[in-house]
Parts: sequence; structure tokens; C-alpha cells
Amino acid sequence: MCSARGCRAAAVWALRWNNPRLHTPERRKTWLACPEHRTSLGDFLDARGFLREVAALPGSHTLEA
Ligand SMILES: [Zn+2]
Repeated sequence: MCSARGCRAAAVWALRWNNPRLHTPERRKTWLACPEHRTSLGDFLDARGFLREVAALPGSHTLEA
């Protein structure tokens, strides 16, 4: 399920991020995002320099869902 506040859509992306102030460099936190929120969540993390990678979730081939 999508990590965006109030969103109940199925997640198809995993945004892996790290806050250097809180986490060791190898640590990865994961936010899940639906297609609609992949950009807004990604931009939020990217603007703070936290975003490390974005991966499609395994088995999430139903992008239109
Ligand atoms: Zn969403």
C-alpha cells in the first residue's frame, strides 16, 4: 500500500532513502508509492537529498491498477 498520507492505493514503487543525520550510510528506509504519488514522494525525498534509489516492486506489473 502507498505510503502517502491518506492514500490507500496499491503501491507499485519502492523508494529507498537514507537520512544521514539519523541513519548509518548503509541503512535504507523504504516508502511505498502508488503511480500517482511516486513523483511527489520522490521529490520530497530528493529535495532533502535523502533519495537513494527507486525500484519497481516485484510482481507489480499491474501499473494501471
Ligand atoms: Zn498514493
